[in-house]
Amino acid sequence: MSRILVFVATDGGRIRRASLEVLSQAREQARDLGLAVDAVVLSDDPDSHVDAIAAYGPDRILTVQHGAFAQHRNQPVLAALAHVIKETGPRVVLMASTEAAKDVLGALAVRSGAAAIPDVASFEIKGDSVSALRPVMAAKQLARTTSDASTVLVSVRSGSYEAVPESGETSVEPIAFSYDDSDPAMVLREILTAGGDAVDLNEARVVVAAGRGVKDQEGKALVEELAGLFGGAIGASRAVVELGLFPATTQIGQTGKVVSPELYFAVGISGAIQHVAGMSNSRVIVAINKDADAPIFQYATYGLVGDLYKILPPLIAGLKAAKAG
Ligand SMILES: Cc1cc2nc3c(=O)[nH]c(=O)nc-3n(C[C@H](O)[C@H](O)[C@H](O)COP(=O)(O)OP(=O)(O)OC[C@H]3O[C@@H](n4cnc5c(N)ncnc54)[C@H](O)[C@@H]3O)c2cc1C
Repeated sequence: MSRILVFVATDGGRIRRASLEVLSQAREQARDLGLAVDAVVLSDDPDSHVDAIAAYGPDRILTVQHGAFAQHRNQPVLAALAHVIKETGPRVVLMASTEAAKDVLGALAVRSGAAAIPDVASFEIKGDSVSALRPVMAAKQLARTTSDASTVLVSVRSGSYEAVPESGETSVEPIAFSYDDSDPAMVLREILTAGGDAVDLNEARVVVAAGRGVKDQEGKALVEELAGLFGGAIGASRAVVELGLFPATTQIGQTGKVVSPELYFAVGISGAIQHVAGMSNSRVIVAINKDADAPIFQYATYGLVGDLYKILPPLIAGLKAAKAG
């Protein structure tokens, strides 16, 4: 039986939510096509992830154990994925479009003699081909890319699909993998995370993003309070990053991060195409802007026209009251 292989990425001992979204969608398409779904996890302790992956119903979980996976490094991940592809011969290899996936996808395609379709918003596995829609030209257009290569690698933007748990029969198979890590080409000395305990923008279900309309510390505090109420992450437009009010790590857009949360607040953001490129895949977009003609309203699910300094305080108070009640 032909197989789909889903790479389940982990980060700091946790499974990336976007990987479970991809796994759910793989399972759904596999069912219609009569394909089997394998999920592969690379970890220094893969068994600790098995239950969480099994909850999303793959037919098999392939575990690859090695100390080199304690933190992401391209070379061991590349070697392990190439090895698993060689061993299991999947037709399609799917992964979430994480920073780590972006690092290895091209090299993995070359090493495995496969085609690669990176960073797609949707994909469809057909009888003898894989077809995907990719945002291009700063997400202004969607380009359809189709490959009929015998193995196709696809990385999928987070938030493109729902992660839906499903119970079923799942077997677990450890894959033997040897890797000489004694003379690494790259040594990871330290991971510097800006923002300390701040919620990771890539994983957040709610993002509150500030634009140039947020002019001062008072506005910044309102944005932070709103994000805190949702347990969400803080984002920013390039304009407000350049003003120095928010760190560069929060920038969303063409030259910043691409996010696709369930809920995105655009606070005082005009909706320039370079910003929209980073957030248009969000499920629900709430725009707050005093200019009723601001382009952001073309993308918004809900629009609040008015001064953010007047809109946010009662919104925050209402949310607090609803939480307390
Ligand atoms: C090559 C290139 C790459 C770029 N990459 C990025 C990128 O990655 N990310 C990005 O964001 N931008 C990027 N830009 C910049 C982009 O073109 C815009 O300049 C930027 O997104 C504008 O940010 P903004 O919406 O915060 O500011 P503005 O366009 O100045 O909009 C501010 C908005 O706030 C509203 N406002 C003002 N005061 C209030 C108030 N009190 N209450 C409510 N609303 C208010 C205004 O009506 C206005 O709509 C890039 C540009 C280039 C050329």
